[in-house]
Amino acid sequence: MNNLKTLIQAINFAAKKHRSQKRKGADGEPYINHPLEVLNLLTNVGQVADFDVLIAAVLHDTIEDTETTKEEITELFGAEVCKMVLELTDDKTLPKAKRKQLQIEHAPYISAGAKQIKLCDKISNIRDVTENPPHDWSTQRRLEYIKWGEQVVAGLRGANENLENHFDALVEKSREKFQS
Ligand code: NDP
Ligand code: ZN
Repeated sequence: MNNLKTLIQAINFAAKKHRSQKRKGADGEPYINHPLEVLNLLTNVGQVADFDVLIAAVLHDTIEDTETTKEEITELFGAEVCKMVLELTDDKTLPKAKRKQLQIEHAPYISAGAKQIKLCDKISNIRDVTENPPHDWSTQRRLEYIKWGEQVVAGLRGANENLENHFDALVEKSREKFQS
């Protein structure tokens, strides 16, 4: 349903929503770099060309991490996009450990589009944990994050072979780095 013009509108919308946020890495990268990396991975590694999926990727952290509402997303980008963004939104009223467990349990049951976005989200976050982690994360904490990412991705397999191969290679490279 959506097209290139709406994708660019979504990029602009997400950039404004995340404008005052930074990633947790020591170099304080602008937050918007993360949804843009997810978009890039989907397009250029995953070969995904469905604009609703690409738009949901750009918006995937807006409801969870900014003031954005589901009504805004539906009005501007449609019900399909909103459905995927909600599938990727944690319930922040729950404790962190429970949220992490629910991601593992829910992964097999989300839509095909949301699965592909989630694969890219985990690739982007594990790349950050490997190359640009929060300054106070020990090696053990980084390895635990990777292990949790693998458990989530186990429930996403079959959604996109290119992304799964990319994820597997990244995890191997990350573990090598921490073991050397
Ligand atoms: P957080 O959930 O606090 O942080 C990871 C999330 O932050 C990512 O999923 C990502 O989400 C976002 N993020 C933003 N910038 C970065 C970055 N540069 N690198 C990595 N992630 C980034 O951490 P945990 O997943 O570790 O969850 C906290 C849990 O860890 C709690 O349950 C706590 O009890 C436990 N804990 C473990 C410790 C240990 O040493 N093992 C120590 C302290 C706590 P997004 O894509 O949404 O932006
Ligand atoms: Zn994310």
